[in-house]
Amino acid sequence: MENETIKIITSERGKDLALVGTDKYRFIRQRKDGQVKWLCTNRTCYASILSDSGRSKVLSMLGEHGHILNTMEKIEHQILRENCKRKADDSISIRPSKIIRSELMATDFEVPHSDIKSIRKAMYDKRRKKYPPFPDSLTCAILQVT
Ligand SMILES: [Zn+2]
Repeated sequence: MENETIKIITSERGKDLALVGTDKYRFIRQRKDGQVKWLCTNRTCYASILSDSGRSKVLSMLGEHGHILNTMEKIEHQILRENCKRKADDSISIRPSKIIRSELMATDFEVPHSDIKSIRKAMYDKRRKKYPPFPDSLTCAILQVT
């Protein structure tokens, strides 16, 4: 596990997570020496890692995962979903379905249609939270026809 590469991804709540293989870790704290401590996102699991201050590689790993590990598919899905949500926020004038399409082209895995529907809904929800729901009739109309 040592020296493995870390990829920083975004959690459902918008927090940074460290992804190592298919294991996700949430940020705990940065130590005085700069190393960063992360704990497995599974609430009942105490496996943890220490990363360098740049959050790019695993320096050491403590404990074992006492649960079924994530599948790569699940991880890819989360990354896709969070990327789409972020872009829905950043590029407010681009239609969610267009953002999803361009994100899908950047991935090489199959996404079930039901997943795409739920991602699109999450994007609309995110925009709605940021911008008051007026005029809402247009977004409602789009949601109904798509
Ligand atoms: Zn774990």
